Amino acid sequence: MAKYKIILTGSCGFIGSNFIRFIAPLYPQYDFIGIDKLVIPTAQHNILLRHQLYIGDIADPHFIDRVFDIERPDIVINMAAESFVDAAIKNALPFINTNVLGTQILVNAALKYDVKKFIQVSTDECLGQLRLGDPPWTEATAISPRNAYSASKASAELLVQAAHHTHGLQYIITRCSNNFGPRQQNRNFIPVAINSILNNKTIPVYGEGKETREWIWVEDHCLAIMHIIDQNLPMNEIYNIGSGNEMSNIELANNLCCHMGKGDICFVDNRKGHDQRYHLNCGKLKSFGWAPKTSFEDGLKKTIDWYSQNQWYLDIV
Ligand code: NAD
Repeated sequence: MAKYKIILTGSCGFIGSNFIRFIAPLYPQYDFIGIDKLVIPTAQHNILLRHQLYIGDIADPHFIDRVFDIERPDIVINMAAESFVDAAIKNALPFINTNVLGTQILVNAALKYDVKKFIQVSTDECLGQLRLGDPPWTEATAISPRNAYSASKASAELLVQAAHHTHGLQYIITRCSNNFGPRQQNRNFIPVAINSILNNKTIPVYGEGKETREWIWVEDHCLAIMHIIDQNLPMNEIYNIGSGNEMSNIELANNLCCHMGKGDICFVDNRKGHDQRYHLNCGKLKSFGWAPKTSFEDGLKKTIDWYSQNQWYLDIV
């Protein structure tokens, strides 16, 4: 039987590299072809040699057209992004280029080459922020981004939906909460905290550490995306992907210190416009048979083990 061909953009990033390593062996009925510009310094260390990869820019229409012409994919999963909020605060332009322009260029190619499913990997951050006691966001919650990263991701969602209404693009938008696991660059909170503890340095925590996030084990995010594709869930819909594990940054830092048996915290100036709280209602995806498989505690232990055994990875900045 012919295999389905999936183009995965951002395949050398944190989530993309976990996706290729974990999902490809579980789903042999699909061929996974990566595209990545190797923008972040860890990306070149995440290349999996046995896996087909095109190195290039999703915002380059000629490159993308050539790849789609050669590969004729059935499905596109667009994970490539400028993803670091602190960088967006300093300079929003790369975010507009990759997250907005790049998405439209992929959409154009998907329409031209008759892609059957376009999966836009988006984020709960498009929805803005919650206050303590607010109910979790559903798929019906209106987007309300508050920084250039989330605004660019929200723009990408709108472009994908516009292509559906205008040209019939068959799409899925997934909105996931904060991921954790191996292969995240040492600029995000969990690898930074683990690195600090391993090197007997204090863990920098923004503000008073009261902002809360919902943490999902990265492989559970990847499994959710494949569940949506493989189980043929209804198209032209949004699906929230979360874990229910909501905690403040200070709780998370304390948890890491507890697991690693040492560590101290220092408070640093808060991030500009730091969103207070994110929390997703994932009832829709659960009603289609998906649920996260790895508990927060098990995921955290695996994450600490991986970085402890691969400390060289934390030196790449
Ligand atoms: P990441 O920064 O680790 O990976 C992004 C990858 O995209 C990198 O390998 C980078 O080289 C590549 N890339 C960047 N610009 C490119 C371009 N112009 N052309 C081709 N490749 C390019 O990010 P991540 O954390 O793995 O996030 C992956 C996706 O998941 C993003 O779309 C992000 O918005 C979304 N997401 C992430 C989280 C999270 O917690 N990390 C949560 C929800 C959604």
